[in-house]
Amino acid sequence: MKGSILVISGPSGSGKSTLMHEMIKRIDNTYFSISTTTREQRDGEIEGKDYFFISKDEFRKGIEEGNFLEWARVHDNYYGTSLKPILKELNAGKMVIFDIDVQGHKIAKEKFGNIITSVFVTTPSLDVLKERLVQRGTDLPESIEKRLNNAISEMTRIKEYDFLLINDYFDKTLESLVSIANASKNRISSLNTEEFISSWI
Ligand code: ADP
Ligand code: 5GP
Repeated sequence: MKGSILVISGPSGSGKSTLMHEMIKRIDNTYFSISTTTREQRDGEIEGKDYFFISKDEFRKGIEEGNFLEWARVHDNYYGTSLKPILKELNAGKMVIFDIDVQGHKIAKEKFGNIITSVFVTTPSLDVLKERLVQRGTDLPESIEKRLNNAISEMTRIKEYDFLLINDYFDKTLESLVSIANASKNRISSLNTEEFISSWI
């Protein structure tokens, strides 16, 4: 495989989607992995662009059939990355971007560790995270409570990642993310160095 994977994780509401949306415009040859989920579609979300929305029964069938590269239960719903499109894009030499949780990152690392660069995005504090979730206005109070509780346990896993970005000032965080993504293209472990050396000699 010729491509690479950039994993972005972090508490829901920390700014991952907004950052990735802007990052993709600034980097060539990327493919954003569209996850499949059983959670309800939010206002403004587009099927096949933000997520593929399916039922829990359909999701369980997908697990049995081995369709997922990784999957996890997050906030009482299933979320997963389909294997087939990812292999196709990696073979085409793309940088594939995953927005997945800490459980998914662990599994992806076991399978594709040598080509993964991982970034954990969070807010300066739990209070700021709460403000952003409330201000986003897409989740009911009960769902916000679940996301805040989950955020506390996700924060304990920061050390499993290559980079930490504290998303205080958006433009500054975006600049750092773009730098990390560009640098990750030159990771020795994701390059075919043998082919390069034999052509170089
Ligand atoms: P996630 O994808 O991690 O769940 P979002 O990208 O939906 O998070 O961002 C959550 C909310 O925070 C959105 O309303 C977004 O516009 C806002 N946001 C993102 N980054 C910042 C920032 N640096 N400062 C203030 N608000 C931000
Ligand atoms: P949200 O419901 O806010 O869109 O996402 C909730 C959480 O699910 C986020 O932490 C996000 O990173 C994670 N997530 C989204 N897609 C996937 C996926 O395909 N696999 C895994 N493991 N987590 C995902």
